Amino acid sequence: MTVDIHQPYDDNNIFARIIRGEIPCKKVFENDQVLAFHDINPQAPVHILVIPKGRYVSWDDFSEKASDTEIAALTQAVGQISRDPALNNGYRLIVNCGHDADQLVPHLHIHILSGKELGAKLI
Ligand code: C5P
Repeated sequence: MTVDIHQPYDDNNIFARIIRGEIPCKKVFENDQVLAFHDINPQAPVHILVIPKGRYVSWDDFSEKASDTEIAALTQAVGQISRDPALNNGYRLIVNCGHDADQLVPHLHIHILSGKELGAKLI
């Protein structure tokens, strides 16, 4: 089922459970504010999800409620991961928010895709 961007945050969503360590993930980065891990169903040789540890459903929710520290931390984490030599040839960032974007997990996540020519762009 797709996410309603106005729904209240669900503390039992799969990424909340990953943050709490109840479900394992293949971690690539972690600090106090951010967790990044390999997507379980990769769509490219590199497919990493970067998530804030705070309780945010979507980008609009995050930008409205997150602190400057959290916003900076998420931005910097994406930058740090993107500087990995494995992404030397370029990468694509995707953030699906809400029903029309087919968001499936109701916790904000940034997809980092890389490692091959990624093909047709939507825009
Ligand atoms: O943007 P969207 O909500 O569709 O993306 C959710 C992503 O979360 C999918 O790429 C899916 O493979 C990933 N996922 C995961 N680990 C889980 C559940 C979902 O990496 N346990």
